[in-house]
Amino acid sequence: MAGTMASLEWGPWIERRPLPFSLPLSLSLFLLLAVVDGTSDSLSWDESGYILYCPCMGRFGNQADHFLGALAFAKMLNRTLVVPPWVVYRHHTPPYTNAHVPYSEYFRLDRVLDFHRAVSMERFMGELAPRHWPPGRRVAYCFTAAAQRSVDRSSCPMKDGNPFGPFWDHFGVDFDRSELLSGIAFSSNYKSQWFERYPASSHPVLALPGAPAQFPVMREHVDLQRYVEWDRRFAETVEREMEQLLPRPYLAIHLRVGEDWRKACEMVRDGSVGPHLMASPQCVGYDRGRARPLTLPMCLPSPALIASTVATWARAISARAVYIATDSEPHTREVQAAVGTQVRVIHREATLPQTDLYILSQSDHFIGNCVSSFTAFVKRHRDVHSLPSSFFGLDTPLPSHTDEL
Ligand code: GDP
Repeated sequence: MAGTMASLEWGPWIERRPLPFSLPLSLSLFLLLAVVDGTSDSLSWDESGYILYCPCMGRFGNQADHFLGALAFAKMLNRTLVVPPWVVYRHHTPPYTNAHVPYSEYFRLDRVLDFHRAVSMERFMGELAPRHWPPGRRVAYCFTAAAQRSVDRSSCPMKDGNPFGPFWDHFGVDFDRSELLSGIAFSSNYKSQWFERYPASSHPVLALPGAPAQFPVMREHVDLQRYVEWDRRFAETVEREMEQLLPRPYLAIHLRVGEDWRKACEMVRDGSVGPHLMASPQCVGYDRGRARPLTLPMCLPSPALIASTVATWARAISARAVYIATDSEPHTREVQAAVGTQVRVIHREATLPQTDLYILSQSDHFIGNCVSSFTAFVKRHRDVHSLPSSFFGLDTPLPSHTDEL
């Protein structure tokens, strides 16, 4: 069954909701940006400074992990986080250029504010940058090692290549000079150095080429997922689709089995990686020394394992439906054979990733992939809402709130 969500066309950073018409343009623009944010207060400049970054590594799951770390970093430095849009790669679909989808298209920015001060990049650039961060005062901050890659070996390569260049161009940003970071890191061990070396009075906007965060997300930041809440309008749209499609209770599974994934899992097969590979700490534990082994079925479950695991959980929750989200092969036939004809098995081609994420996150039980950060997003969401999850290839998942993690 084909996905019904409209495909997204994201132009320059004004988003697609209609302008409140017959208002003066400047007021319309302000109202529009406030609607984008889900906040309506006018913005005043934060003298404690800002953190600005390009979510320039990976696709949604990677960017979401980084977002949590960046949020924690902004809180640590007591600076406002400028929340970037999601970078969406359209390598295989016209117009082939990246889309920059506002955070608030899928999630509530006002909920982030319950944890820490934040403003969308669209509003920061539209309302604050013209006066407080104008051309001529735009400083790039990067580690010395990154600057080594530039032609003069002392400039931050902020706009070199994709997605870097298109991201800053999307907001019309060029950098005027670079500030090289050395002997400092984003971890809390360096908190005082950040304040000493980069006080907001002389460094009001720390603009970074990537997220000030680790991948995968650090254990202590996993719980920040509770501030990532689905946008109500988006949720309602998907809920309406689900009513037609998915009788409860339903089991939802994430199959990460495509070509790029098979290659990554080769490293597990040939033993060239340890237990930590991408998002695997969610299954094996964050402490490298005490981590469980990472096995091939945890990375790349076979069709037989997928079928037997689904059969077990479908029985356990008396599922009336199984929803399959996947990056490639849904294995619908095997799953249907495993659960029997009484259970409806649903897979939709070309579903928007966020629609799949929503459906996975709302299911009565979820089975995911240990190594995938796409799965990790769902698992975190379910943990903070006390919903049950398990993983392919892992009989006894670690409890969500354990020191071992
Ligand atoms: P990871 O590579 O699994 O850690 O997760 P990422 O989210 O960083 O990259 C995988 C990308 O593949 C996602 O962002 C999606 O674009 C796509 N993808 C993977 N699994 C699914 C899925 O179940 N449904 C949809 N619609 N897309 C998926």
